[in-house]
Amino acid sequence: MEELDPLNIVRDRFDEAASFVPGLKRGLVDFFKAPKRIISCCFPVEMDDGSVQTFQGYRVLHSNILGPGKGGVRYHPNVTRHEVMSLAALMTWKCALVNLPFGGAKGGITCNPKELSEGELRRITRRYVVELGDDIGPHTDIPAPDLYTDEQTMAWIFDTYQVFHPGENNRAVVTGKPIELGGSLGRLEATGRGTVLVVQRFLDRMKIVDLKSVVGKRVIVQGFGNVGGIAAQLFHEAGACVIGVSDSIGGVVQEEGLDLAAVNLHKEAEDTVVGTPDTLTVSNEDLLAMECDILVPAALGEVVNANNAELIKAKLVVEAANEPVTPEADAILNARGIYVLPDILVNAGGVSVSYFEWSQNLANEHWGAERVNRQLEELMFDAVDRVVDQWIKLNEVASEDPDRTISIRTAALVSAIERVARVTLQRGIWP
Ligand code: NAD
Repeated sequence: MEELDPLNIVRDRFDEAASFVPGLKRGLVDFFKAPKRIISCCFPVEMDDGSVQTFQGYRVLHSNILGPGKGGVRYHPNVTRHEVMSLAALMTWKCALVNLPFGGAKGGITCNPKELSEGELRRITRRYVVELGDDIGPHTDIPAPDLYTDEQTMAWIFDTYQVFHPGENNRAVVTGKPIELGGSLGRLEATGRGTVLVVQRFLDRMKIVDLKSVVGKRVIVQGFGNVGGIAAQLFHEAGACVIGVSDSIGGVVQEEGLDLAAVNLHKEAEDTVVGTPDTLTVSNEDLLAMECDILVPAALGEVVNANNAELIKAKLVVEAANEPVTPEADAILNARGIYVLPDILVNAGGVSVSYFEWSQNLANEHWGAERVNRQLEELMFDAVDRVVDQWIKLNEVASEDPDRTISIRTAALVSAIERVARVTLQRGIWP
C-alpha cells in the first residue's frame, strides 16, 4: 500500500530536492521542514436550532522568511493538522518559486459546510478570526479562499478583523474578496489562466516531439469547477481540442472536441456535466486513463497514484489541483517518460493575482483586467523559464548517473528552496 500522509509526502519531496541544493546546512533543512507556528483552536458556536457545537480550527504559518504568510482557509470534514501543515509548506515553495514577497501559510476548520446554514458559517468564521487574533494581518499572515470558502467568507474575515482594528486600512488582511470590497479583477480566473500559460510556455521551451504547442492537441480536464472549468475554456481558446471533462458525478467525452458552452449550460441546469447532449459518459477513473496528449487533474489530491499511473496515456500531466500525483505515481510516470508539471508551478496563478490584490489594497488602487493578466503572464513565464533552466542544469549533472533522472517537480522545488535559503542567510540567523 502506498503511504499517503500529506505531511510525509511534502517532507520527502523536500528532502529529495534539498539534496541538490549546494551547501544547504543541516540546521536549515530542519528549519525548512518544520512550520514556524501552528495554531490549533477549539471554539463553541451557537447553531440555528439553539444547540451549541464545538469546532476545531487550524492556522499554520510555515515560513515568513520572504514576507508575511499567505495561504487559503478550507472548510472540510477531512481537514486535519497534518493536511494544513503540508499545504502551508507547499505555499512557501509556491510563493518562493514565483518570486512573490510572501511566506507560506494555510488554515482550515474541520466541518461539513454542506450541512451548515449561511448564518452558522458566518458565526464559525467570525469566531475563528477572533481566535487567530493578531496572528493574521496585512503584514503578518494573509488568508484567501480554498475548498468550500469563497469571497463571502473572505468578506466576513475582513469585517471581523476590521472590528478589532478600527481606523486602519485593513483590506489587505485577506485576498479573494468581492470586487466592491477591494477584490482584484482577474482573481477568479487566475488559477485556470495561469495553468494554461504555464503549459504554453513549457511546451515552447521544451520542444517535445509531437507536443510543441497546445494547438490541435487533445486535452482532458478532471474537475469542472473554478480551476478546471476556466482552464478547459482557455485551452480551447488557445487552439487545443478539449475531448473530456468531469466533475464529482462523472465524466463526459467527445472525441471531436467538446462543445464547452453546451457543457457549461448543462452543468448550470443539472449541477453536473454528465448528460451533456452528444457526449459519452465515462467514470472519473476511465477518464484519467483515456488516450490524450495533455491530462489536467484539477479537482482532488492523489487521483493519479500507484494503482493507475501505468494506465495514464497522456504525454504531459499538469497538476492544476494540489498534490493530485502521488510520489509512487511520480516515479512511474517519470520512468515512462511522461512529464509532470508540479502544482507549485501550475496553480501559482491564484496566489499571484492574490499578490496583485494585496498590492492594490495597500496602495488604494484598482487595476484593470488587462494589467492584471499581463503581469500574471510575466510572472508565470518567468517561473517556467526558471524551472526549465534549473531542470536542464540538474540533468546535466545527473547524466553522469544513469539511474538518476531529475523530475520537473524536483527542479521547481530546488529553485524555491534556493531562494528561501539565500534570503534566510542574507537576513542572518537571529540574534
Ligand atoms: P471547485 O470546488 O471550484 O471545483 C472542484 C471541482 O472538482 C468540481 O467540479 C467538483 O465537482 C470536482 N470534483 C469533486 N470531487 C471530484 C471527484 N471525486 N472526481 C472528479 N471531480 C471531482 O474547486 P477549485 O477552486 O476549482 O479547486 C480545484 C483544485 O485546485 C483544488 O485541489 C484546490 O486546492 C486547487 N487550487 C485552487 C486554486 C484556486 O484559486 N481556486 C488555487 C490553487 C489550487
